[in-house]
Amino acid sequence: MPAHADPQSWQPSAYASPEDYLAAQQHLWLGTSGQDGLQLGMALRQHRFTRCLLQAMGGRLLSLDQLAVQVCRYHQDFAALPPEHQIGLLRSYLTLISCARQTVEGQEQPFLTCQTQLWVRELRHLTYHLGDQEFRWSEGRGPSSEPVFPPLYCRDCGQPYLAAIQREADPHLLNDLGKVGQAFLDRSPRCRVIQLCESAEPLPESQKPTFLSLSDLRLTQDPATPETVPVSIHRDVSEGQKPTFLGRCPECDNDDALVYLASRAATLTSVLSSNIFGSEHNRDKKLLAFTDSVQDASHLAFFLASRTYRFSLRSALQAVVQEQPGLPLSHLPKAMWDYKGMSCARP
Ligand SMILES: [Zn+2]
Repeated sequence: MPAHADPQSWQPSAYASPEDYLAAQQHLWLGTSGQDGLQLGMALRQHRFTRCLLQAMGGRLLSLDQLAVQVCRYHQDFAALPPEHQIGLLRSYLTLISCARQTVEGQEQPFLTCQTQLWVRELRHLTYHLGDQEFRWSEGRGPSSEPVFPPLYCRDCGQPYLAAIQREADPHLLNDLGKVGQAFLDRSPRCRVIQLCESAEPLPESQKPTFLSLSDLRLTQDPATPETVPVSIHRDVSEGQKPTFLGRCPECDNDDALVYLASRAATLTSVLSSNIFGSEHNRDKKLLAFTDSVQDASHLAFFLASRTYRFSLRSALQAVVQEQPGLPLSHLPKAMWDYKGMSCARP
């Protein structure tokens, strides 16, 4: 086991291509590189670490962290490494296993079944508790007696905010998750953007913060009110007969920049699939999406189909322009066509 090698040597980010990484890992574990899948399978079959891994797995499904703990029971050198190096080494060896092949009844097959699972929870119903200053999952969509608000962020400068609504001439903010979400979707002038202020921060007289009462969500100018937090409330709306909420970021002043942090499964899946499809390290682009209702399935299918293409095209355009500064517009189509990560979006 390459326990004494430079930890950098098993970091994928240290290599220019997946082939370079694979060759280096072969060299690290087996002392040679350039073996094909079958030769790699033969070499791993005799390697002590394969037996260790299989014993540690014990036929169960384990997370990488759990696997590292189990491997420590069977391998002293591995147990002596710091946890982050253990994970790096496991990834390195699993890479070799993923590439290894064996012949079964004349057919070439994977050496071992190697599957990676990434579990992501959708951020629906995510709120921020102003009193405890922590993120919480809300139970439902109705009003909450707790001082919780849906989190927002600026897609241009990254600044975090909270969302609320407020009736005209009412000093209270409302935090009904369903109604706040609908108001932001409708760009209602009732939308409010809450910016938290550092109480120690000296502010000019004109920008004195308002105080939000944690018990009844009332806005007050009196800092002596018990249980309040200093906030700055923003309500930028368009001018004209029918004012609409502008979604302007108070920090960078860009309009239409504020978005909900609480992305749902469809958005997260479409970002994930764009990355999988746009990656130049993926030569076998496939995606299977499951959902628990027919209605959801048709929605998700349309969402993925329309978003993935647009996201991949946009990422490829950005990568090409960044790679080749000063590229004339007339050369852009050819450069896009030649870009490796773009193969998914080709007709
Ligand atoms: Zn901003």
